[in-house]
Amino acid sequence: MTMTAAVDSGGSEPDRDGGVTARVIPESEHPIREQDIDLEALKVLYRLRDAGFSGYLVGGGVRDLYLGKRPKDFDISTNARPGQLRKLFRNSRTIGRRFRLVQVFFRGNKIIEVSTLRSQSEYDINEPDKVLPSNNTFGTLEEDAFRRDLTINSLFYEIETRSIIDYVHGVEDLDQGVIRIVGEPQRRITRDPVRMMRAVRHAARNDFTIEKKTWQAIVDNRDKLTLCPPSRIRDELLKDLRSGASRPWAEICIRSGLWFTLFPFYRSMLTGRNAGKGREELLAVLAALDRLYSAAGDRRVNVPEYMLFAAMLLPWACHRFDLPGIATLKGAAYSQLMRAIRAELDQVFGEQFNVKRMTKETIATLFVHLVTFRQHHRNGSWPKWLEKKSYFADCSRFYGLYQEARGGPEVDVALFADTPADEQPVATAGDRRPGSGRSRGRRGINPAFSSRKRGVFGLRKG
Ligand code: ATP
Ligand code: MG
Repeated sequence: MTMTAAVDSGGSEPDRDGGVTARVIPESEHPIREQDIDLEALKVLYRLRDAGFSGYLVGGGVRDLYLGKRPKDFDISTNARPGQLRKLFRNSRTIGRRFRLVQVFFRGNKIIEVSTLRSQSEYDINEPDKVLPSNNTFGTLEEDAFRRDLTINSLFYEIETRSIIDYVHGVEDLDQGVIRIVGEPQRRITRDPVRMMRAVRHAARNDFTIEKKTWQAIVDNRDKLTLCPPSRIRDELLKDLRSGASRPWAEICIRSGLWFTLFPFYRSMLTGRNAGKGREELLAVLAALDRLYSAAGDRRVNVPEYMLFAAMLLPWACHRFDLPGIATLKGAAYSQLMRAIRAELDQVFGEQFNVKRMTKETIATLFVHLVTFRQHHRNGSWPKWLEKKSYFADCSRFYGLYQEARGGPEVDVALFADTPADEQPVATAGDRRPGSGRSRGRRGINPAFSSRKRGVFGLRKG
């Protein structure tokens, strides 16, 4: 049985039935239990309630709990204003220029984000830099539901009655495995094209089907993604590469054409005569990435940003530079290849994604050394001189991924155990591994070439 109750009417956009009522699903009819909710999030919710405010668990937290998954984070919405929140939570701070959000701090660097119910999405505005008077942006529960991206992300879990409040038929879509943009998809995507990436992401992660109108709007508007700031696209892209579902994500992106808006340089490889083979190669390397994330279980895996991008670019680089076809690489040929890869990466992958020069440099180093590593690989071990190289740790991990993608043995997950230093590739003139000699203290991998001339054409000696 489902109760239908009027909750907070007054929104500007009607739901699919043309009304303004929400479906309220009582605890007896949904799977979310209080003990599944993060303790600190509960503390915030109860503090709000005790102070006379309403508090709701929102967004991905409700979605994932409903699906029996462990949410990444627990976001909270309330009718309390940022100033009231700051008074209520002593250990907190306000962030955000356009939309102020309060972060509540707990022990162990834990942060719970609390936002006041809003009438519009921060991305739905024509003048993104304009600071709005704060009372212009607050909204009702209903308005807050309609400003969100997908129906499955627009649910509220209310702590007092332990019920789910659903204005957008999100529970139905969760039950049926459907991805649907809230409101009119063409319009919502035009206002914020990143919503296309979010729809594809959640379809891939949950193995859901994208509803027809939403799908058509994605296909029609796929090129609008280029209108979004590169750094936002890059961040969204990294979420997908780290999701553990990057293979199905790429499949949906290719099918919808979004892939070619994101990566036009892949077009000839994935649409030409050998499209099937190219596609298999791409999906195989992403499957290897996904396996790493799923094999990690409760351990944290950290594949650094440069390696994620390199994995995604690998099949293209193999084709473009015939990396598997190069038997040996020495001296001038080596530096020529490095230069060629660098130049091409700059062209196809630099600006569009706001990728740092150092990241591109590291990606080029990973690609060039695939040849070196294949050349010197002997029954699972490497020559000592190679093991001493500063780039050894990263290049051997990347070589492992490459091998796995080509049907070789699975790369060891332990090699990707979380170490914060992984995120800081440093290309400097030092030729030893961190801690193994003079370049002690330098982290990440170093490029193949030294600024000091010591080898042939600047190539470092082994
Ligand atoms: P994840 O598990 O990846 O964190 P999430 O749905 O929680 O998934 P967030 O990026 O944390 O994703 O966003 C939190 C919520 O904010 C979403 O669930 C959605 O309701 C809303 N949201 C995020 N991005 C948009 C957007 N571009 N337009 C409208 N609403 C958005
Ligand atoms: Mg989230």
